[in-house]
Amino acid sequence: MNSFEYASPRTEDEAVGLLSAHGGNTAVLAGGTDLFNLLRADCITPRRVVDIKNIRSMQGVTATGRGLLVGALTTLDEILVHPLLAPYQSLAQAADGIRSIQVQSMGTLGGDLCHLPNCWYYRSGYGLLGQRNGESLPAEGRNEFHAVLGNRGPAKFVSASRFAPALIAWGAIARVAGPEPGQVSEMPLEYFYVSPKSAEQGVTVLQPGQILTHVLIPEPSQEVVSATYDVLQLEGLDWPLASAAVCLETSGGVVREARVVLGHVAPTPWVSLDASAALVGKEIDERAAQAAGDAAVARATPLSENEYKVQIARTAVKRAILRAAGQLEGALS
Ligand SMILES: Cc1cc2nc3c(=O)[nH]c(=O)nc-3n(C[C@H](O)[C@H](O)[C@H](O)COP(=O)(O)OP(=O)(O)OC[C@H]3O[C@@H](n4cnc5c(N)ncnc54)[C@H](O)[C@@H]3O)c2cc1C
Repeated sequence: MNSFEYASPRTEDEAVGLLSAHGGNTAVLAGGTDLFNLLRADCITPRRVVDIKNIRSMQGVTATGRGLLVGALTTLDEILVHPLLAPYQSLAQAADGIRSIQVQSMGTLGGDLCHLPNCWYYRSGYGLLGQRNGESLPAEGRNEFHAVLGNRGPAKFVSASRFAPALIAWGAIARVAGPEPGQVSEMPLEYFYVSPKSAEQGVTVLQPGQILTHVLIPEPSQEVVSATYDVLQLEGLDWPLASAAVCLETSGGVVREARVVLGHVAPTPWVSLDASAALVGKEIDERAAQAAGDAAVARATPLSENEYKVQIARTAVKRAILRAAGQLEGALS
């Protein structure tokens, strides 16, 4: 591990200033559950690490006129038990899927949303795109856990975030501070993510000197039901092979609006407009859920070793829909 400066700001502006130094060769430290892995493996070699844990404005959950403002420093176990978050079933289900008390108590929402890929080529020092001499290693090499959607560009890894699909399905907004102190911008969370064209680009829109400070989640409505369904290889501490999060607005038993977002199948959280279109106007039952699952993966382009993920993603979508509608029991195919 390279040596680095350590800084512990108390305000968002101070953090932005500290992160803009050294030509932006700096890193944000939140709970540290992944950042230390990245530093130890020399995946990143920042000159300064900025520990944001003491920034009070980024902690906790607050009700506002626009919805719930959830600080990026909110820990995963707070998400599980916070009364204001209780109506957002799909979020609690995503938090519950992380089966480690230590990770749940240290890991933060911001750290999850900005998590760098778990791709083994990246973690072994081949850069974000996993390239050697300009050639993609996952394209021809070991790619069983890589992307099956959105993988035609140079990025073949999958987005690591557990919460992004659920939050995007809820229509959440990302609040970003920087790169100048006092500067704040907001965007739909789905536009926060990028599929990088170069190793330097990163997996989010964040530029040097910027941090994710909050996520704003719209008020839940009585007619909206939500769910997350993860497919895991192990019933323990592991990342999903595929996941799906849905928010369904129904009227008289018929779906009026549907948001279906897949996780761990593409370099970004994957919003499936095809799956949504397959659901709108239908009553939710096993057949409608199956049709939405089929639509979600109809454009999949699996790599040499990960065809199996297409079926898993299809099933994740189907089960998330049935789970949201309270129909999952007895329909596990
Ligand atoms: C042993 C172990 C097992 C794990 N297993 C699982 C698992 O099975 N499933 C799962 O889903 N997750 C798993 N995790 C991951 C864990 O859920 C995430 O690492 C955690 O949510 C990250 O939060 P953090 O606050 O610790 O992030 P950090 O490690 O502090 O940061 C993670 C990344 O996000 C950046 N970052 C953090 N906050 C911000 C911010 N506000 N703005 C901009 N950038 C930011 C950091 O610079 C870093 O690149 C595991 C972690 C460990 C250590």
